[in-house]
Formats: sequence, C-alpha cells, structure tokens
Amino acid sequence: MTKKQFKAESKRLLEMMINSIYSQREVFLRELISNASDAIDKIYYKALTDDSLTFNKDSYYIKITANKENRTLTITDTGIGMTKDELENNLGVIAKSGSLAFKKENESKDGHDIIGQFGVGFYAAFMVADVVTVISKALGSDEAYKWESEGAEGYTIEPHEKDTIGTEIILKIKESAEEESYDEFLEEYTLKTIIKKYSDFIRYPIKMDVSGQRPKEGTEDELEEYTEEQVINSMVPIWRKNKSELTDEDYESFYHEKHYGFDKPIKHIHINVDGTVRYNAILYIPGQTPFDFYSKEYEKGLELYSNGVLIMNKCAELLPDYFSFVKGMVDSEDLSLNISREILQQDRQVKFIAKNISKKIKNELKSLMKNDREKYEEFYKSFGRQLKFGVYNDFGSNKELLQDLLMFYSSKEKKLVSLDDYVSRMPEDQKYIYYATGESIERIEKLPQTEMVSEKGYEILYFTEDIDEFAIKMLMTYNEKEFKSVSSGDLGIESEEDQKQTETEQTENKDLFDLMKEVLAGKVSDVKLSKRLKSHPVCLSTVGEVTIEMEKVLSAMPD
Ligand code: ADP
Ligand code: MG
Repeated sequence: MTKKQFKAESKRLLEMMINSIYSQREVFLRELISNASDAIDKIYYKALTDDSLTFNKDSYYIKITANKENRTLTITDTGIGMTKDELENNLGVIAKSGSLAFKKENESKDGHDIIGQFGVGFYAAFMVADVVTVISKALGSDEAYKWESEGAEGYTIEPHEKDTIGTEIILKIKESAEEESYDEFLEEYTLKTIIKKYSDFIRYPIKMDVSGQRPKEGTEDELEEYTEEQVINSMVPIWRKNKSELTDEDYESFYHEKHYGFDKPIKHIHINVDGTVRYNAILYIPGQTPFDFYSKEYEKGLELYSNGVLIMNKCAELLPDYFSFVKGMVDSEDLSLNISREILQQDRQVKFIAKNISKKIKNELKSLMKNDREKYEEFYKSFGRQLKFGVYNDFGSNKELLQDLLMFYSSKEKKLVSLDDYVSRMPEDQKYIYYATGESIERIEKLPQTEMVSEKGYEILYFTEDIDEFAIKMLMTYNEKEFKSVSSGDLGIESEEDQKQTETEQTENKDLFDLMKEVLAGKVSDVKLSKRLKSHPVCLSTVGEVTIEMEKVLSAMPD
C-alpha cells in the first residue's frame, strides 16, 4: 500500500499546531467528542428535510472505551460517518472543515448548533496518541474505510469492515516517558473528569463502561465487582433551560457545583440573548468577599463556553475590573471552539458580550439597590470599594455605569445613602453636594468644618475610605451638582453680605493675622477669618481642590 504524503506546508502546520494550539493535552477528548456530536447533529439536520430519514434521539450516542492492556482509547459515534473522499478531504487536509462546509450548504436550515469550523480540532489527538485510526461508514454508503496516521508522516486509507453507520476513532496512547505520563488518559476516573469538565452539555449521551464495587445482593457485607454502562454528561445545561423552570435552589446548587464559591450568592442573573450575537449567561454576585479578593492572586473572569463546550475557565475579557467579583459563565454559539487568548482580546463577539454583560450587571445591582436596600448594603460592604476604584480608574465610560451604584454614609440619615437619595432631597437653595473626609464616622462628626453646613440643614456625606474622595473628584458632578468638601475655602453658603463683612474684618485685623502667620510659619500658608465656625475656635482648611485627607493619602504613597 502506498503512503500518501501531506503537502509540505501542511506537514509543518500539523507539527506546529499539535504543539502550540492547545495549552492542555486533555482537550483532545473535547475535540473528538465535539466532532462526534457534530456528526450526530448532521444526521439530525438531514432528517429535517429528508423524509426517508427519521431521527430517533435515543439511538444516537457517543461512547468512550479505554483499554489499558492495548493502551487504546476509542471514541465511537453513531453520527453521519465519512466516505472515502471525506476521510481524505477532511482528515487529510489540515484546516479543512467538513462541518463548516456542511453549515454553509445547509444555511437555510437551523444548523447553528454544529460546533466545528476550523478543521484543526481532530489533530489534537496527536498530542496524546502515536497512531490514530479512524474507521468510518457514511450514511447512505455500503462501504466502510479505515484511515490511519502516525502524525506528520502522512496517512493511509483502505477498505474496512464496519456494520453500522458512524465513526470509530482509535487512539494508541503514547508510552509514558520519564517526565511525561500519558497513563491517565486510560484511567476511567480521569476520563470521566475530562468529559464532565469540557463536554458535560453535549446534547447526546456520552457513555462509558464504569466499573466498581457494590454490596452483593442478599449478603450482609460482601462486595461484588460490577461494570455498567453509564452516561457521563448531564446534557441539558441549566443556562439553556427556561428561567421559569428553575428555582433559586437550582441556581444555588449550580453555583456550588461549579465551585464559584462556598457562600450563598446574593443574587443570580440569568441572561438569554438572541440578537446579533447569541449567548446565554448565568452570573452571580457572591454573598461574601472571596478571601483573596483584594490580593494579587485573585483572578477575575467568567467561564466561557462555545455552544456547550468549555473553552476557558477564566475569561478575563468578559468582565471589567470593577465587576471582578462577579462569578459565572457565558455560552455562545457564535464563538469558535479553538479561539485563543490572543484572538479573544480582539474578538468582536467577546467584546459585544462583555459590554452587554456589564450593562446587565449594573441594572441588576441598581434594581437591587432600589428594591432590597438591605441586601444591597450587604453587597456594598463586600464590593463597594471595587466600584469606587472603577469610577476612579477609568472615568470616561464607567461614570454613567457606576455612579448610581455608589453609597456613602449620611450625616442626616445615619446610614448609607445613594447619590440619588442625596440629590433628590436637597433643599432648593443648596448648591453643592457636601462631603467630609476622615478616618471614621465618629471623627468626622467632631470636625469643626461640618458645623456650619449642618446648621444650615444640609446633609453631609462622610468619606471614610481613602478612595472615596479620589473617586468623587473623578465624577466631579452628580446630576449637575458639584461636590464640595466641607473643608474647602468657599463653601458657597455665606451670603454676599457676609462675605464682604468677613473681608472687612480681615483687613481691619490684618496685624493680628500677620502675627499668627509669623508664629505658625512653615506650618500654614495663610491664616484667615472664618464665619463657618460655631463651637470651635479654629479649623484647618485647604487652598484649591486637594483636601487635607487627600494630601495625607498622597504623601503616604510610595514615590
Ligand atoms: P472542525 O471540527 O473544526 O471542522 P476537525 O479537525 O475537528 O475540524 O475535523 C475536521 C473534519 O473532519 C470535520 O469538519 C468533519 O467533517 C470531519 N470529522 C471529524 N470527526 C468526525 C466524526 N467523528 N464523524 C464525521 N466526521 C468527522
Ligand atoms: Mg472539530
């Protein structure tokens, strides 16, 4: 039999690909299962228009069989199979996707569930196998063929016996070398884990013979060995289900199953979008701050699925930093399976989804704030800081999104209030949103600077976190109202007459103030008469926009 050669550049491509596309070897199984699922889908779509075909869902499945003695792993499917030509064209030509061609041919039909389109997934098999054998019988054909390859060297095709329609892929798993072991790919447990991890939501059953021990019937404590065929995947993903079918408990157990956290999430957000970019997502606002949240180790991101197949555990591109606490997953039919991290950053679909998600999260938080203030406060205690950092860091686009979610302690309400709360009850003559900064609420309450504003009947927001004032400076205004520190020079409270009088008194007592300035030389830049003090004789104030508290933060920063 003559060996047919891959074309020269294909040969290089294959080597390159096998070694560089995938960061983890275990994804070979994901790729082969996806192909099997595609092959079954194709029969399904054919049956939609061909009356001579019936699609009985129960007779379609994927089976995984490991044989440790022979070191073989077999993936069997009852899909559409491949003719001799198709074996040659789809497996012999790298980066040629029969599935993409199928989708194009069947565009009028609803073929968008089919995963494949890049024509490279199959070769992932060579990451773990020395020899790959494909035995296939195509739908409507009487002959079956065997395709076999040891990788870059080429492949052979010959007729072969096969009774049923479908494909069998046999991997001869590599021998383990000193530093690298491949044995795990023959272990029942590992295989089950890989299937669960990547292919849990493949729509057809993925079966495996699972062996174990169980109590022998009719005996007290005798055990017996058994082997039974089990379906490993759960098939229908929760995110594809109808929201109305699902209970809070369902969402909560998914949260725990997925190890998003051990806590009870404050809120779940289930999104089904069927627009230009289709996607489903289930997102969670955790109930507690993850222990490493404010450390460098914390990695933000959502799980990313392409049509039910896991692509990535933590896709950072899907979440802005200020929502980094959000956990969950996104599944989109419009993403390719082989998408790499580099591509992700520029991917239009991913960008679209990310933007969409941010808006949804914001709206959900806003409605939580409105409808369940207590829960919102719980959330805000854990993650409010993150929102403030968001406002501070990337002011342009986040301002609109985040300003409504901020809350600060109010001098009047003695609790957290939103900026909207504040502005909506401002007396008509009040020009500014007043705030005071300090280490703690108690300290701020004692500040002489707050007296005059309070006396005027105005509410003051207490800024007790370093970031507060910085964030507010970025906002500048809320609902066209400017923010004003109670310790700034001009509070905008004194009437013109008062101001004039202060000026006159200041000039009349010039000598006294000059003397004070001399005594305090190097400590203060000026000494001025103030009308804002009530029960305190003196207070510190700043010139310009940087307040004393900000100065403290700035001077504490490393150069
Ligand atoms: P993709 O899935 O992105 O198209 P692959 O390299 O995974 O690329 O597969 C290449 C092609 O080989 C597929 O498009 C399909 O036409 C064919 N193929 C692979 N596996 C099977 C299978 N189990 N049954 C039928 N056809 C298959
Ligand atoms: Mg594929």
